[in-house]
Amino acid sequence: MIPFSPPRIDDRTVQAVAEALKSGWITTGPRTKEFERRLADYCGTERAIALNSWTNACELVLRWFGVGPGDEVIVPAYTYCATANIVVHVGARPVMVDVLDDFTLDPNDVERAITERTKCIIPVDIGGLPAAVDTIMGLARSTASKFRAASDVQRQLGRILVLSDAAHSFGARIQDRPVGSQADITGYSFHAVKNLTTAEGGALAFALPAPFDAEALYRHFNVMSLHGQSKDALAKTAPGAWRYDVQLAGFKCNMTDLQAAIGLVELDRYENSTLPRRKTIAMRYQGAFQDNERCVVPVLRDNDRESSYHLYMLRIKEASEAQRDRIIERIAEQGVSVNVHFIPLPMLSFYRDLGYRIEDFPKAYKHYSTEISLPIYYDLTDEQVEQVISAVRLAVNEVLS
Ligand SMILES: *Cc1c(COP(=O)(O)O)cnc(C)c1O
Repeated sequence: MIPFSPPRIDDRTVQAVAEALKSGWITTGPRTKEFERRLADYCGTERAIALNSWTNACELVLRWFGVGPGDEVIVPAYTYCATANIVVHVGARPVMVDVLDDFTLDPNDVERAITERTKCIIPVDIGGLPAAVDTIMGLARSTASKFRAASDVQRQLGRILVLSDAAHSFGARIQDRPVGSQADITGYSFHAVKNLTTAEGGALAFALPAPFDAEALYRHFNVMSLHGQSKDALAKTAPGAWRYDVQLAGFKCNMTDLQAAIGLVELDRYENSTLPRRKTIAMRYQGAFQDNERCVVPVLRDNDRESSYHLYMLRIKEASEAQRDRIIERIAEQGVSVNVHFIPLPMLSFYRDLGYRIEDFPKAYKHYSTEISLPIYYDLTDEQVEQVISAVRLAVNEVLS
């Protein structure tokens, strides 16, 4: 069976983790700090912080901004549940919008959805293709007069916060610059299936305008990810430096040095090895399916965006949801694992029970019901890529004939 998305783990990864284990320092420490510096370099921001998941990192952002009951946060209906779950966690209401043909959120729908209660917009770079973050930033600025600040941080920004969900798009580019410096804050995921992994993990890159200070933001998130304690474990090991204070009841979502050890290896070979291999596979699929009249191939690049090639999201034009499911079964019977990204949020029980209706998001439903994600990862061989292509062709022809 060709697996869908195994992580890239080899002797180098194993050795890096073994060294971290033997170093005597296994929680947040020198490797995490090094990983953060190198992440910031890669993403083109002054500062980045590594935490234990996208979810906890981005939830901290909402808490830092003072988002809570009575507030609204705009999210696409077409995303992974985490994007909206964090809004629910802080007691605010996710306001869902439909998506464009390229799967990213529709800026026109976002504009219509903005109210005096909107505190944050979370565009999602689905599959690795950057959403229209610049347009969304423009909307946040042009609606500043409507914005009702209810906390010091909100007064300081004076407008809606744009938090980019870049869980899929580490290494993707907007106008030839890596995703990270365009939105106010960009959140990455290093979960096991993502382009760059630390087993579990996530990070935030800060690009807030002055007077926000990247170093001060880093310190705030560092403290709030460690119980609100004024000194982390590493700082407390300095001779005589045992005393600390807690000014806010913080959370616990720091990254460990074992995770950072994996991340450092991943980052080292990301730009020149992992990413190009993913691109090669995506281009091969593109060549195989773009002239097939039954298929809609994904947008992987256009004038100012280039994907990170995280997912290869193929659509089968005339397929009903049941036919798509049948195609997936037929592909699986040929030894190939595929997947569907994503079940739109209004179709999940929790959100349906809150009153969201999939009928309000026709594009999201249409995309979902015809979508099949093909395997794409570093260790997928050229022969396996050909096997995937013929399995998909056969299954589509059989089911739709
Ligand atoms: C994976 C994913 C997340 C959550 O990332 P975690 O690191 O697992 O918390 C958020 N958004 C999207 C779109 C994702 O695919």
